Formats: sequence, C-alpha cells, structure tokens
Amino acid sequence: MSFFGPPSSPSYNKKKYEHLTLAIRQTVLERAHNRCQKCSVKFSPRTPPQFEHINGSLKDNRPVNLHALCSECFKSVENKEKNKKGIFGRMRNIVG
Ligand SMILES: [Zn+2]
Repeated sequence: MSFFGPPSSPSYNKKKYEHLTLAIRQTVLERAHNRCQKCSVKFSPRTPPQFEHINGSLKDNRPVNLHALCSECFKSVENKEKNKKGIFGRMRNIVG
C-alpha cells in the first residue's frame, strides 16, 4: 500500500466539485443547449433540469460527469441506478 494514493487517482480538485454549484449547473446546461440530453425537450420553469451523475458518484460533480435531463428521463435513469445497485451493489462493494 502506498500513502501517495493509487497511480490512477484523479488530478482534479475533488473539493471543488463536491457540490453541484450553480456554476457547474450552468456549464452543463450550456453544453446541453438547455435541453434534455436524452429526449431534447427544452428546459423551462415547468421542466426543470435534473442532473445525472454518469459514474454514479454523487460527489463527482465535474461537468463531464453530469448529464442534464428532464424529470421524466431522470426518473428512468434513477430507476436503472436502483436496479443496478440491487444486482451489483454487493459485487461493487467487494471490487471497491
Ligand atoms: Zn428528457
């Protein structure tokens, strides 16, 4: 074991992306052209954007790790995530 961390440890500032800040949201929304990245519906006060964490880590709020989704698409993603955890949750704990 090394105290310098694994060689593949990410070089980004983890603290900086620990919270989904307004600036990060704006970056993601701009990149998505203010549309859902699944069904392309335009976001509005009636269709507020939801943010999916691509790698599943809620503390990894880098824009590259985020998808802007409408609530409908987010629901399906959320359900998928739940299913994944149900099936692979234990396995993931073993693998790390
Ligand atoms: Zn959508």
